[in-house]
Amino acid sequence: MFPLADIQKTIINAKKSAFYHEHFADVNPADINSLEDFRKLKFTEKEDLRRAYPLGLSAVPDEKVVRIHSSSGTTGTPVIIPYTKKDVDDWAIMFKRCYQTAGLTEKDRIHITPGYGLWTAGIGFQLGAELLGAMAIPMGPGNTDKQLQMMIDMKSTALCATSSYALLIAEEIEKRGIRDKIHLRKGVIGSERWGEKMRRRIADELGVELYDIYGLTEIYGPGIGINCGHQSAMHIWTDYIYCEIINPATGEVLPDGESGELVITTLKKEGAPLIRYRTHDLTRIVPGKCECGLDYMRIDAIIGRSDDMVKIRGTILYPSRVDELLSSIADVSSEYQIMIDHLNGKDILTLFFETNLGQAQYHGIEKTVEKMFKDTIGVIPKAKAVSIGELPRSEKKTTRIFDNRY
Ligand code: ZN
Repeated sequence: MFPLADIQKTIINAKKSAFYHEHFADVNPADINSLEDFRKLKFTEKEDLRRAYPLGLSAVPDEKVVRIHSSSGTTGTPVIIPYTKKDVDDWAIMFKRCYQTAGLTEKDRIHITPGYGLWTAGIGFQLGAELLGAMAIPMGPGNTDKQLQMMIDMKSTALCATSSYALLIAEEIEKRGIRDKIHLRKGVIGSERWGEKMRRRIADELGVELYDIYGLTEIYGPGIGINCGHQSAMHIWTDYIYCEIINPATGEVLPDGESGELVITTLKKEGAPLIRYRTHDLTRIVPGKCECGLDYMRIDAIIGRSDDMVKIRGTILYPSRVDELLSSIADVSSEYQIMIDHLNGKDILTLFFETNLGQAQYHGIEKTVEKMFKDTIGVIPKAKAVSIGELPRSEKKTTRIFDNRY
């Protein structure tokens, strides 16, 4: 269903910001009266938002802004997102829904490891936990000794983390043999694409059910959607946001079921409304109704980013395909790193992967991985085995592909 009234209101509000006043200079909100009209509006890119630094996105008077967040600018100027009191409240409502969809209640003790601060992560997990009435344990990242001690002493029942940090914690619990002292029953994992093998390892080693939470700082933060117990697709809170899937190369809107890039329009946001914002996350809208009965549309687990696709010797390489491939090979872990270099006029791809085999068997497993790569992806890497735990785990997002060609 196309939420025309909410979208018209959003365009009127957005044009009060210096950014949209200029970006939509030739758009008259009165002319947007149908889905077709809406689809003619130009996209908003993260690069555009950078130009609005510091507060050019704000669509309300300064006294209505109660907080700002900033998206992690890996390069260049950060993006500042202002929030009104209502925006903060709406975010908490969405986050509480996520926890409820994951089966958490006020009896749970929610161990929050994502960072607090300019980044939206930790504080979103906190807001939702408090609104739910659960006990929030605001750890933030790092200091694994203390994390584990608190997890034992406070009897934490739910772990909130990125997938790589959840993996690190799972490995530490295993290594220290303290599994019987851990009370976790659920894991709420956010902000990273992860493969099935990693998911199984975390779930098995922690003994928990895992849920993927979705979100991005530009659109509230984590908590705008989560998967239910029935399948891996995520329900999106469509009373707050409107989703489209586009062909990343042409911008054309794709029918439900087809994979492409997710584009989001906010429907209720006051501080920084965004219209047709390109997330660069690749997914698809899952058609039909979910067995769980929730009446919110679903998007599939994120398969990668349109700006992460790497082209090597004419073949497009998606990180998600590497995940899938490695998870099908015995004795190989979910962790890997890819280096792409250009030497003597040729692209060279080096793949580091972890294995639980001994060094004497490295050569054999390297040849197996190289052959599987050639057969399924069409590119032959130089495969290099390392032992489990040797590749970096990060508390934030783990970078797996390093393109050194440019
Ligand atoms: Zn469902």
